[in-house]
Amino acid sequence: MIAAMPATRAAGLDRLARFVPSAGRDYAAGRNHDPGPDDDGAVSRLSAYLRYRLIDEHEVIAQVLARHSFASAEKFVAEVLWRTYWKGWLELRPAVWSRYRDDCARQRDGLRDEGALIAAETGQTGIAGFDDWARELMQTGYLHNHARMWFASIWIFTLRLPWALGADFFLRHLVDADAASNTLSWRWVAGLQTPGKTYLATADNIARYTGGRFAPGGLAREAIALTEPAIPAPRALPDDGALDPGQPALLLVTHDDLHPECVFAERRAFAAALVADDPALLWGDKAHRFVTAAKTDVLARAAARFACPASGIATLDAQSLIAAAQSAGVRQIATAYAPVGPLADALARLRPQLASEGIALGCTRRAWDTHFWPHATKGFFPFKSRIPVGLRDLGVI
Ligand SMILES: Cc1cc2nc3c(=O)[nH]c(=O)nc-3n(C[C@H](O)[C@H](O)[C@H](O)COP(=O)(O)OP(=O)(O)OC[C@H]3O[C@@H](n4cnc5c(N)ncnc54)[C@H](O)[C@@H]3O)c2cc1C
Repeated sequence: MIAAMPATRAAGLDRLARFVPSAGRDYAAGRNHDPGPDDDGAVSRLSAYLRYRLIDEHEVIAQVLARHSFASAEKFVAEVLWRTYWKGWLELRPAVWSRYRDDCARQRDGLRDEGALIAAETGQTGIAGFDDWARELMQTGYLHNHARMWFASIWIFTLRLPWALGADFFLRHLVDADAASNTLSWRWVAGLQTPGKTYLATADNIARYTGGRFAPGGLAREAIALTEPAIPAPRALPDDGALDPGQPALLLVTHDDLHPECVFAERRAFAAALVADDPALLWGDKAHRFVTAAKTDVLARAAARFACPASGIATLDAQSLIAAAQSAGVRQIATAYAPVGPLADALARLRPQLASEGIALGCTRRAWDTHFWPHATKGFFPFKSRIPVGLRDLGVI
């Protein structure tokens, strides 16, 4: 069996340290092979740690490039930057997230064959591999990238199920469930993200990269791109609204960034640290379990680093935040910038409620995001060409 994934920063760093020696040519050669749920294969399995930022892209790439040349680790670096690219792409086009949620509700209401959806979600379609991945996802909360691509392609083009309901199924079960990486990857398979360009899963490719474990029959032979109305032009990256660093503040930690020591590296102290309990803003119980376990870890780290009392874990609502700010004797709450997704929506709703009590809510965005996200205006390849310069500007290389 693959090793358990403790939800602590130390466990993320440990996994990274064990992976670093194979992040060069071994990763490039083996990353497309999915050996099945009992074997990590050539990939890092760092996604849950990166998703909740127990560890971050900057340190992952810095450690890899301390061991390998850029040329030999280029594939791994590019994959990590796919995550950054998707986050930036959605950040510049929040309407695509709203559209996904609307599509999801509309497709669910309009579903004509509920039985087909249930069969797909419970692994009872009779399609080899597909059924196994559905069960693997539900049992483990993880799928290899290639399995995610095959699964999404079969869902859309063979089973002809609505794409947004497939994306929703992933969000409800992945531990690393992420608004940007998941929605935009499903859109990419469907031919919406790069209009007209789809991903077609074939039996040969599946057999080759699963070591012959699966060779499904009856797969769609063509993948005709889905279509949609034009998407709005990218906006400028919004102001991060950081607070007055000279004034005392309450630190609010949320699941979108569980490493406040890095976000607020410049800050010496906070009046208190509070961790938000926000299960409704995560999609599934496996993600929620991982985040809940990580909260004890982050509260202890934050209290130690910022020399402040740990106010505990509180519901993310105006009443709890106002009470915590008042008890800490502050009029400002500092938190990490929340990228487009349910948490950002919740913070946007809370801000005016806090302001009406004279409490400012400020968000601090990481230098990594501020640097890379604005470049996600076009496709990945123009973005990729900026990676070496970006890594130099950020002091990674
Ligand atoms: C349909 C579909 C849905 C997906 N949904 C999610 C999701 O909800 N959350 C998520 O984190 N990733 C998602 N991915 C991307 C990718 O599958 C996972 O990040 C990767 O499989 C995680 O395994 P790993 O950590 O071993 O990756 P590695 O291959 O070791 O890569 C290292 C890190 O780079 C990033 N990364 C690698 N590949 C990609 C990629 N294609 N896109 C974005 N980031 C990448 C991840 O943070 C990953 O941890 C999805 C991909 C597809 C095709």
